Amino acid sequence: MARSVGSQAPADAAARRRAPAVVVYPVDTLPQPDPALYAAARTGMTKVSEVIVPPREARASSVPAGHLFRIVSIEGPQVGDLNLWNAHDLSERFFSGKTRALHATHVSTGGRLWSTLPYLRPLATITHDTLDWYGWDEDGAGVHDVIGTRCDPYTNKLLKGTEYHHCCHSNLSRALAAARAMPVTEAELHVHDVLNVFMCTGFTRDTHQYFMKASPVRPGDFIEFFAEIDLLGALSACPGGDCGAGHSDDSAPCHPLLVEIYRPGSLPESWRPPVPSAYSRAHGP
Ligand SMILES: [Zn+2]
Repeated sequence: MARSVGSQAPADAAARRRAPAVVVYPVDTLPQPDPALYAAARTGMTKVSEVIVPPREARASSVPAGHLFRIVSIEGPQVGDLNLWNAHDLSERFFSGKTRALHATHVSTGGRLWSTLPYLRPLATITHDTLDWYGWDEDGAGVHDVIGTRCDPYTNKLLKGTEYHHCCHSNLSRALAAARAMPVTEAELHVHDVLNVFMCTGFTRDTHQYFMKASPVRPGDFIEFFAEIDLLGALSACPGGDCGAGHSDDSAPCHPLLVEIYRPGSLPESWRPPVPSAYSRAHGP
């Protein structure tokens, strides 16, 4: 979108623009994931359950702390929208914005999915990603985005004036409503900004608008997570399919996704789930 400029640039505009870019959150003090822990969990891991997420639908599943879960591409390229909650308290949920600020616009192996304030602890750690080879392409795009929010019927109504009931927001709302036996209008208040699994996105260089391109995911690809706490997850197979053209209608070819849950091979006796932030919540006088 073109921006209108009505102000005269000051004489020192160039100098002001030369201020050095500083990474907002230096992550050298971030608690680092322990590779040995995840290697032990992955060695000899055994699948205990699986759920097929039908196209343009969502399904919920529970993952106990210390277990692993995979989101697997089957049948064809398909983007998935993932929500995560503390299984015992839905007010603690995935915090897409802070995850982006701490890690990057897109996440892969070693990245962590952080929870909302006042908890701010890792909900899950990415332990494997078969698309980690993709990196950043010539358009500046990457895979597994924490930029986008989720396709939703409100934005669709705003832009097109029509009603569509299989946007990820609605799919996730129905899945949570079914999992927790609550009305869908209550469930949707717990639905939050997602991890866009397999989605390939970036910002246009000229206008910095959010763009998508066909996902490079192919059947057999997967992203794998270690559940740091007891989780309730919901995954929507986005109506955008590979998100190479559009979304929020039935025009794109869509495919199911597979969620697999694994018992860890072994975990150190001393391992405990991370605790919520120790900040006092005093917030000053
Ligand atoms: Zn969607």
